[in-house]
Amino acid sequence: MAIQFACKNCDAMIEVDEDMAGRAVTCPYCERVTTAPDEPVETTRPVLEAPPLAPQTVASIQAVRESAVRRYGVFGAICAVFAAACLLTAVFILLPIMLKAPSEMREDPEQMQRFLIEKLSGSPMQGVPFAAAVGMVFFSLAGLTLGVISLTQSGGKDWAGWIATIVAGGLVLMFCGSLALAASGFGPAGP
Ligand SMILES: [Zn+2]
Repeated sequence: MAIQFACKNCDAMIEVDEDMAGRAVTCPYCERVTTAPDEPVETTRPVLEAPPLAPQTVASIQAVRESAVRRYGVFGAICAVFAAACLLTAVFILLPIMLKAPSEMREDPEQMQRFLIEKLSGSPMQGVPFAAAVGMVFFSLAGLTLGVISLTQSGGKDWAGWIATIVAGGLVLMFCGSLALAASGFGPAGP
């Protein structure tokens, strides 16, 4: 039968053979000399062993993880809304000018672009469409990334993640589409 007791130096629970009762032993934890008791000591303390996590700790870790995932989705959705707002700002500024353009100009993106630049230059709105375009690209990419992270982490259960992915993803597609159009020769030729 083994004797369990606490080391008098470091308080760790040690176990020794019965024939070591009352003798000096070297503690395996602190490596200092301690004395084993004459007979087994009744103890409720477990011999050094990592205790399992309490259920409430597991639950709170889960909750923290879930709220982090939810935050990804919500931030993604906010980015998607900003991206959409940037697009709307550009449309609200550019559309009225485009409608004033002569109808034959509307057929030709290059002429239309020159017309827009001409009308906007010198106006206080000059830099706004460019800033809005940059904002849209930035926020839609950020929104799409956060949305996808949120959906992957939550297994598709986070509604904010869906909003972020769909809205921002749509804007990214739109932006890639117009880039492709530009690359295929219709695009901005510069003033
Ligand atoms: Zn010790």
